[in-house]
Amino acid sequence: MKWGLFGGTFDPVHLGHLRCAEEVLELFTLDKILFIPAGIQPLKTDRDILPFHHRERMIRLAIEGNPSFSTSGIEDRRGGRSYSIETVRHFLNTAPAGTELYFILGQDAFHEMPMWKEWRELLQLCNFVVMTRPGYETKNLTGIFPSDVVALFHYDGASDGFTGPAGHSIFFRGLTLLDISSTDIRNRVKTHRSIRHLVPDPVRDYILKNSDSDYFSLFLDNLP
Ligand code: ATP
Ligand code: MG
Repeated sequence: MKWGLFGGTFDPVHLGHLRCAEEVLELFTLDKILFIPAGIQPLKTDRDILPFHHRERMIRLAIEGNPSFSTSGIEDRRGGRSYSIETVRHFLNTAPAGTELYFILGQDAFHEMPMWKEWRELLQLCNFVVMTRPGYETKNLTGIFPSDVVALFHYDGASDGFTGPAGHSIFFRGLTLLDISSTDIRNRVKTHRSIRHLVPDPVRDYILKNSDSDYFSLFLDNLP
């Protein structure tokens, strides 16, 4: 089995997330991708984030009908701040024996990895798929990690990946570039502009239906 773990804030989930995940699923012939919304995001403290259940609900609406996509509430159940290393360890312990894990993230997030908890250990625990994102062109590890970490990974032409001492690889993949972000969607909602065709229709309906509620006023009023 090959599982993709796609972590994020998903505030809200959008077509950039969904299309990229679909392409990664196909490229790596994954059996499934789990969307894993962050509970408390340690690196996003500058604004209020929509409560977990709304973000999770929108993911459910977005992935309905795609049998290869599912969602996990592990980061909410665990409580406290969400750290990817704990999430990966959880799936290493609970997935069927022999399951290969692919942690999926965009290049902007990958560049922030040296700020993550136990990131050196995390790099050795599973594979990473780094998806292109408009504005980010890097296709190697230099400049992202210190040289001692870069030296641990060797480029393997056959798999087009950088393989580390534990046998897991980091893959940079060029996908359909979709310049869609949750920040832009929140800004559009706040200024009463359309978000049609940026998020799936059921997600748009959910946002519009809830935009008067207290929770969604968080979404609307606390923008940077
Ligand atoms: P925000 O603007 O609030 O940061 P976002 O659109 O970046 O939201 P996140 O929830 O932060 O969404 O992203 C989750 C993961 O998906 C991250 O690894 C991010 O890099 C990746 N990602 C988000 N949008 C895209 C996109 N359009 N193309 C490729 N990767 C993306
Ligand atoms: Mg982001």
